[in-house]
Amino acid sequence: MTTLHKPLAPDATIGILGGGQLGRMLAQAAHELGFRVHIYSDKKDSCAFDVAKLSTCAPYDNWARLADFLNTVDAVTYEFENIPAETAAFIAARKPLFPNADVLATTQDRVKEKRFVNSLKIATAPFAPVNSSTELSMAFAKIGMPAILKTARLGYDGKGQVKLDKGDDLGTAWRSIGEQPAVLEGFVKFEREISVVIARDASGKTAAFDPAENVHRNHILHTSTVPAKITPALAKEAVNIATKIAKALNYVGVLAVELFVVKKGAKRELLVNEIAPRVHNSGHWTMDGAQASQFEQHIRAVAGWPLNSAKRVGKSAVMTNLIGDEVLGWEKIAKEPGASVHLYGKGAAKAGRKMGHVTRVKL
Ligand code: AMP
Repeated sequence: MTTLHKPLAPDATIGILGGGQLGRMLAQAAHELGFRVHIYSDKKDSCAFDVAKLSTCAPYDNWARLADFLNTVDAVTYEFENIPAETAAFIAARKPLFPNADVLATTQDRVKEKRFVNSLKIATAPFAPVNSSTELSMAFAKIGMPAILKTARLGYDGKGQVKLDKGDDLGTAWRSIGEQPAVLEGFVKFEREISVVIARDASGKTAAFDPAENVHRNHILHTSTVPAKITPALAKEAVNIATKIAKALNYVGVLAVELFVVKKGAKRELLVNEIAPRVHNSGHWTMDGAQASQFEQHIRAVAGWPLNSAKRVGKSAVMTNLIGDEVLGWEKIAKEPGASVHLYGKGAAKAGRKMGHVTRVKL
């Protein structure tokens, strides 16, 4: 189901698939609006369970548990894009699911996603699908070096990716990603990376946050800064791209579009790197630096409510992720006036694990 007959009233229950920090912050935003939340996750240590009235821990293909979950909810959303297609179909046949199941099918596969983006006359890095080591050689001939080989499915934070330079052995690269369907992308010498986080409601109205400028460390987002160091015209172009994508997907909820800014002489060109059909790490600054957070906007859209304002408050905001041990500096951060710290209650600070974030807004 992709429609609600009327907006959900407070006290309705929103089901969320996935129990990580995004699910947790979505649940917190839902509570602010008076909703109840039911988290469904296959992981026992899901930090979103701690903040939800109802929770189910079961595999995503446990149809009996899913049916029980669906009996308790009025609408369903998700915090991660790798929901199995059968699960999405099972849910959509029974309850309103936002964003719709087709969005998942398009964004779960990098090749499908890039073709979709190009079909809207929006540029991406040059790419070629790769399904065998022979196809990798052919793709290499077409794309050239340097390039990045990425698994078509299930990659995140740089996982399932390998950079290829001249002289690298293609067979080794193919084996290193597990010999699975992939895409070879031209390596983009970008000037900066930005993202647009945009909300679209059931009536088709959109509200985009200011584009954020993102810096990665070890393939994991380190900081998001707003405003991004780009011209107002380029910011507008980036928002137009995200709006076009959201509309073409008949999207309801919050969507993030990651883009590369490429210098072309005196001009700048935008290439779409990735679409995330969910709230996004580069939108966390909105909790403290915008009139409504991305989480509130997502819940509003899912509940059939109108969107709130996405206007930035303050001159600038910098969101810094607390990865692994970095969270151990919480006492120092807690003493810093104006530093808004958000910890996810995940327990052990494992290397590479997103433990929290801190946003510094300049008023
Ligand atoms: P992804 O998993 O596609 O979001 O990629 C993670 C990060 O790797 C991006 O944010 C970029 O910093 C870098 N990256 C990905 N694809 C490319 C590319 N085609 N050219 C240059 N850098 C890339």
